[in-house]
Amino acid sequence: MKTIFVDKQNLEFLLYDVHEVTRLCQYPYFSDHSRETFDMTLETATQIAERIMFPQLTSVDRQEPQLQNGEVTVHPIVKEFLQAMGESGLIGADFPYEDGGAQVPMTITSIAGLIAMAANSGLMYTGLTAGAARLLTNFASSELKERYVPPMLAGKWQGTMCLTEPQAGSSLSDITTTAVPQADGTFAIQGQKIFISAGDHDACENVVHLLIGRIQGAPLGTKGISLFMVPKYLPDGTRNAITNMGIYHKIGQKGVPAMHLGFEGATAWLIGEPNKGLSYMFQMMNEARIGVGIAGAAISSAAYHAALTYAKERPQSRRLHTKSAVDTPQVPIIQHPDVRRMLLFQKAALEGSISLLVQTSLYFDQAHATTDPEEKEKYTLLLELLTPITKTYPCEAGVKITNEALQCFGGYGFTQDFPAEQYYRDIRITPIYEGTTGIQAQDLLGRKVMLQQGKAWAYLQKEIQQTESEAASFDALKPYAQQLGQLRQQIDEITHYLMSIAQTGETERFLSDATLYLHLMGNYVVAWQWLKQGTAALNKKVREEVTLKTMQYFFHYEIPQCAAWIHRLRDEVVLTQYPEVDFL
Ligand SMILES: Cc1cc2nc3c(=O)[nH]c(=O)nc-3n(C[C@H](O)[C@H](O)[C@H](O)COP(=O)(O)OP(=O)(O)OC[C@H]3O[C@@H](n4cnc5c(N)ncnc54)[C@H](O)[C@@H]3O)c2cc1C
Repeated sequence: MKTIFVDKQNLEFLLYDVHEVTRLCQYPYFSDHSRETFDMTLETATQIAERIMFPQLTSVDRQEPQLQNGEVTVHPIVKEFLQAMGESGLIGADFPYEDGGAQVPMTITSIAGLIAMAANSGLMYTGLTAGAARLLTNFASSELKERYVPPMLAGKWQGTMCLTEPQAGSSLSDITTTAVPQADGTFAIQGQKIFISAGDHDACENVVHLLIGRIQGAPLGTKGISLFMVPKYLPDGTRNAITNMGIYHKIGQKGVPAMHLGFEGATAWLIGEPNKGLSYMFQMMNEARIGVGIAGAAISSAAYHAALTYAKERPQSRRLHTKSAVDTPQVPIIQHPDVRRMLLFQKAALEGSISLLVQTSLYFDQAHATTDPEEKEKYTLLLELLTPITKTYPCEAGVKITNEALQCFGGYGFTQDFPAEQYYRDIRITPIYEGTTGIQAQDLLGRKVMLQQGKAWAYLQKEIQQTESEAASFDALKPYAQQLGQLRQQIDEITHYLMSIAQTGETERFLSDATLYLHLMGNYVVAWQWLKQGTAALNKKVREEVTLKTMQYFFHYEIPQCAAWIHRLRDEVVLTQYPEVDFL
């Protein structure tokens, strides 16, 4: 039997029925595209996922990258994968034509990425290359762009993001890597970077590091950070002064080497202007964070489908009301309410996550494609506000999804006989990299909610209110539209209450429970997405029963948790602030 790792019908429903992504083709920037070209992109990703990625899921996990005599060896499939991705044009599919891309909307490439990551998230190489290449296309000189971007998009050269240092993870303002100007206009880089994904390997011909550092004498903090391009091999073919100091042994996504790199006077080129490095990185951040959300949803998808298949096949026990009838056959475990609860949670959180990812990607594409300044502002603000939630919800809910998926397998879930244990390990990194959940929470509550004096917030509330109005025209949805409306008002109140604490200047008190606020917002916007899905299903008479039942699960089982979070956020007893006398 063919293994399912994504539900293609659900993806089509979300893209074309719920979010109507072909609307994007009305913008001149996307006018060469149509449903046909979108489907072709998704089909290409599916073929690589099924032919190359999924068959190697286990072996990529078991055959970890090795560092020997200073060289990194990765699983042989990595080379075949990179070649296939390069030849298919998928790495740079959403780049502009002039940069070697096909101007496919990011909404479509996100879903193509989801299909690939669901097949095997241990082959997470090309998103890094695309991110690094995009930094070059946006900010590098045309000479550097012409030399470096084409082999990267062809899958021959690996791109990396070199940000983290031993003392500077969440706090990038503390980086110390130094760049010393050279007479020929290049820079000599001195310092160490840790946890660098795909930081070196033998499946590519060159590695192109996009690295942040300080030009000697630059100011402290974020204002003194510049962006550099540091290749493994220099244009004359000699090896740059970069040492593989170590390789981390991770609990998941083992196929990608996480490297500890030493830069010992390595030759580098400045990208853009001095001291603006972090602002360039931040411009790429929305995309990278949506990318991590995609990885969370992808691994969850594979875990859910594995659990669903198992639950339909595994006989164990009898129904609760016939438990004593030992002479009757055992039933498949999917017939037990508790197993159905676990599966419904996985399905509701997963499909809600994917819908949110499509929604946010759509705002990204609309913000880029529109020429109307008002529309641009609206979509940009919505994108900014939703990004920390779109990064976090699929990853944090994904950790729970893979946990429940493993639980569905019982004892077998704890063994290597089934892939559930691998998904449980693979997903765990997603709430950590590209900004931990704690950092996303501070970004949301401390910055995004009041972006442009609350304009972003007002746009979001209006979008949600509009979904409620559309849903209310269906009797079956009316109670849920009301429930979402009540929650919207409660969330508005609690947000303004928290803002009143911010105004007192007690910043630590204001942000002390920001993560709980982020969880609340996650459930809220996913409920919005479920109401949208319910409305689309009834409007278009597609997937009505499955959509309404899963939507109901989300409203009846997940939304009640919001009351507890709101209660906690109002509670004046704060135990988490660092006290005068510590008790921990
Ligand atoms: C497998 C893997 C791949 C990675 N890939 C890359 C890569 O390609 N490139 C790259 O540059 N980096 C990469 N990273 C690094 C990753 O981005 C960092 O690990 C992450 O940003 C957290 O930094 P840290 O590990 O130093 O943890 P810390 O920053 O020390 O955080 C530890 C804990 O403290 C919390 N914390 C820290 N500061 C605050 C604060 N101000 N307020 C509240 N809570 C706080 C965090 O939320 C976290 O829970 C990778 C990491 C791993 C494990």
